[in-house]
Amino acid sequence: MAQINENFIKIPATYLFSEIAKRVTLHKEEHPEVKIIRMGIGDVSLPLPDASVDAMIKAAEEQRKSATFRGYGPEQGYAFLREAIVENDFKAKGIKLEADEIFVSDGAKSDTGNIGDIFDKHNRVAITDPSYPVYVDTNAMAGRAGEPTENGTWTNLVYLKCNAENNFVPALPTEKVDLIYLCYPNNPTGTTLTKDQLSIWVNYAKENNAVILFDAAYEAFITEKDVPHSIYEIDGAKNVAIEFRSFSKTAGFTGTRCGYTVVPKQLMGFTSDGSKVALNKLWNRRQTTKFNGTSYAVQRAAEGTYSIEGKKQVQTLIDFYTENARIIREGLQQAGYTVYGGVNAPYIWAKSPEGLGSWEYFDYLLKEKNIVTTPGAGFGASGEGYVRFSAFSSREDTIEAMNRLKR
Ligand code: PLP
Repeated sequence: MAQINENFIKIPATYLFSEIAKRVTLHKEEHPEVKIIRMGIGDVSLPLPDASVDAMIKAAEEQRKSATFRGYGPEQGYAFLREAIVENDFKAKGIKLEADEIFVSDGAKSDTGNIGDIFDKHNRVAITDPSYPVYVDTNAMAGRAGEPTENGTWTNLVYLKCNAENNFVPALPTEKVDLIYLCYPNNPTGTTLTKDQLSIWVNYAKENNAVILFDAAYEAFITEKDVPHSIYEIDGAKNVAIEFRSFSKTAGFTGTRCGYTVVPKQLMGFTSDGSKVALNKLWNRRQTTKFNGTSYAVQRAAEGTYSIEGKKQVQTLIDFYTENARIIREGLQQAGYTVYGGVNAPYIWAKSPEGLGSWEYFDYLLKEKNIVTTPGAGFGASGEGYVRFSAFSSREDTIEAMNRLKR
């Protein structure tokens, strides 16, 4: 009898995006004449930078000739990309890392989901609430989350509430935790932590031999000075943190797929008898066993984002979405809504008008304004009472949506 991992069936069906699709379809059927503007999704709308496309075409040509053909590459990523990452994303910002601390992948979803492989099932896990759903669901699959409860939480997870009451700055847990998921700039709230606020978490991790899993997928959207781009800007963070990065939102790679994970060599985990083990070695082992590398052409495309032209083109993409975010943030404020985020992130987190739940606010925006958002409750219990607007739409749609709200 092939017995299944029963943790999978404990996880409630993710009805968020299917429920949104159902409501949008119904609304369209009832009102075929209206133009619906989609501001719910986290997918980008602009194409890849030319520098990446040109690099992919060149790589494809290399693959046509036996002299330049490449088969399996290093599981950890080609040196050309790992070195470009170290130079541009870290050294240029005063952070010293080595190429063998960078693990290239097909994106941050895989890495944030797979990282649990190297940690024991009995670790106590803390996750900010609301959060990117992958953190909760992958811990549930691993049996680390315990049992689901009626209000959608899990018995063994420690939820770090982030809401307007605490200005979206999570308080340290009152019980001891071993693994801490932090995502800044945050999806879905679009909020950030300052260096001092992030230092509190680094210190907590040091004092408690905990590891921080820091998701910096939206780092490129940071505009304010005091917001760290990398957790390694904080003293001592290399001893306590793994960082995840993605080319998806930065350079339009959502369909092309490339990201990377930083596991500093000095970062240690512990065996049950308290001996130290380098997590870099474990992650290397995990990747070489279960992953065969990101495709050569895609790694060349990622490398292309670091050329002089590539950097300019990436900045143009970021500036475009950042301007959309400003239009949304200010548009919502002018329409009388209370909003958060959107300054250092492509997401704007809007408070539901008094008395409305997330889904009711979502329905109001859909039915009265023909705008699709994402109900905050879909990201966790603390997301109730908010909706997420994404800045990834076209400029025309973004402006039109805000005009509708102000009307
Ligand atoms: N981390 C966060 C916080 C995200 O919002 C997303 C995608 O929406 C990802 C990771 C996944 O990124 P990737 O496309 O690199 O898998």
